[in-house]
Amino acid sequence: MPADATRDVVNAASLARDRSGSILAQVPPSLQDAFRDYGRWYGWSVVDAGARVVLVVFPLLQLAEYLLDPSVSRDAWMHAAIRAPAVLLALTLLLVRHRGRRQWHTRTAGAGLALVTVVSAWWMVVYHFPDGSGHLHAASAALTIAIVAVSVLCAGGRHDAAWVYVPALLLAMALLARSGQPLRLLVDATLYPVLAVAIGMVIARMLHDERVRTFLSERQLEAHALTDALTGLDNRRALEDALQGEHAHAQRHAGSYAVAMADLDRFKRVNDTYGHDVGDEVLREVARRMRAALRADDRLGRWGGEEFLLLLRGANETQAFETAEKLREAIAGQPIDTSAGPLPVTVSLGVAVLRGETLPGRVVTRSDQALYAAKAAGRNRTHVA
Ligand code: GH3
Ligand code: MG
Ligand code: MG
Repeated sequence: MPADATRDVVNAASLARDRSGSILAQVPPSLQDAFRDYGRWYGWSVVDAGARVVLVVFPLLQLAEYLLDPSVSRDAWMHAAIRAPAVLLALTLLLVRHRGRRQWHTRTAGAGLALVTVVSAWWMVVYHFPDGSGHLHAASAALTIAIVAVSVLCAGGRHDAAWVYVPALLLAMALLARSGQPLRLLVDATLYPVLAVAIGMVIARMLHDERVRTFLSERQLEAHALTDALTGLDNRRALEDALQGEHAHAQRHAGSYAVAMADLDRFKRVNDTYGHDVGDEVLREVARRMRAALRADDRLGRWGGEEFLLLLRGANETQAFETAEKLREAIAGQPIDTSAGPLPVTVSLGVAVLRGETLPGRVVTRSDQALYAAKAAGRNRTHVA
């Protein structure tokens, strides 16, 4: 992961704790595409679970009612009609998922299933309101459970939850108020569902925040595992991954790449004379200057102690040599300001271009050999293998 993105992740991890608002506002711009991918994966798993729950619970309720009263009354048909849209939508979503059509907007699918479920549960209450019977209590209890349960489908947090809960709540209240039944019955039938809406909004908000936090902390761990702590550049593991990727890409497309190994000249002397802390200051500034001299898509990392590796996609020998010289001049051109005063620092570089090797490690070995040739020839120079 590039150093900028690492910084973004570290900043955003603290941001997510004290900011609210749009889900994407909490995720730094460099990570928003990755966050959308994560959201799609997460969204589908939640929709999948929600759809399965609907497919089990709704038919089971219907069956339980039949077992309690096998006469198959008008109520039984009406209940089946009220439950059918949620069951059909759940079935459709599972089929779509099974066929791998992931381009569906998962947040809309989750909110849609949540809405249909809540509307059918309210519908049941509105239907039984005039009879004020045991059916009404059962419908009100089922609605309360449904409202809390569908909170997990509201991937956008309280915003999605508000769209799912509030219009259905207002419409149902208006219908119930017009029915001419006593106020006491209205309160009795809707008290717990209204409380459940409040609890459901809190749950949706908490799950949403947790989702952002999980995403950011996973990214933070990943960034730490691939970043050199001293310089903020890619570390050796990240470079080895990048080399493997570049090698595979070159083989697939009959392309090429170049590797340049840079090593500080007589660096031991800096440590011995001024101490390790000053040595670290030098390493940080060398890394900063080299990074600043490169294009954004050139890979540069710390290969080991005072060795840096540069990876250039598609570069031939001339281009790789010129880029390596640019790095060398960026270091040698001006002394490095340290707490022990300005220190003249130079680097030697060895360049190797892919020559049909089967393993990227062999290209690195050749760049290392060129580096040793540069050292032997007097340092502060670039050699090509
Ligand atoms: P040459 O020109 O032949 O490369 O000479 P050199 O002195 O640079 O080579 P050598 O390999 O003998 O020394 C490398 C030194 O780099 C040894 C070690 O103390 C230092 N070094 C490696 N990692 C770090 C680090 O993280 N911080 C500091 N301050 N020094 C480091
Ligand atoms: Mg060395
Ligand atoms: Mg050295």
